[in-house]
Amino acid sequence: MRIAILALQGAFEEHRQMLLKYGVESFLVRTLADYQQPKDALIIPGGESTTMLKLLKDLSLFDVVKNDIEAGLPVFGTCAGLIMLDDKHLGTMNIEVKRNAYGRQLGSFATEGDFDGIDHKIPMTFIRAPYIEKVGDGVEVLSVVDGNIVAARQGNQLVTAFHPELNEDFGVYEYFFSIFAA
Ligand code: GLN
Repeated sequence: MRIAILALQGAFEEHRQMLLKYGVESFLVRTLADYQQPKDALIIPGGESTTMLKLLKDLSLFDVVKNDIEAGLPVFGTCAGLIMLDDKHLGTMNIEVKRNAYGRQLGSFATEGDFDGIDHKIPMTFIRAPYIEKVGDGVEVLSVVDGNIVAARQGNQLVTAFHPELNEDFGVYEYFFSIFAA
């Protein structure tokens, strides 16, 4: 298994470290040539979605990434990575997202929550996080915290509003791997 991690900006290194600890090979994507290497899946990390979108377009990655995801490339988007898959960005997932959804005071917090398909509570770190306001056809809600959708799946696409790369728990990664490496 070999995972591409989009590394234009944001928390890509933390994902790489988690995969390394878990024993999964990965590589960082900073250019179109990087991206074009063989891969089984793509991780889009947290960061700043406006900046990430601009860089995706400037580096001619937007269309290839969108086409690959639409053709079934498994993708895991965390926080800004979740935002990148919504209808205002790559548009591959049937979700409407509220950015910076918790206001300034509650912008960052940590909790634990249930996650469908994972048998233990998942530690969840939120950093100026979004949540999913509305899901459409084909989207399965996987986790709800305080009444807000914080994780969902549509086919091979998995998103979390929190940062699983910031806690020592591989539950969500294992869930992601199970989507395509069953
Ligand atoms: N607030 C950021 C955005 O809207 C997301 C924050 C994050 O990825 N930690 O893009």
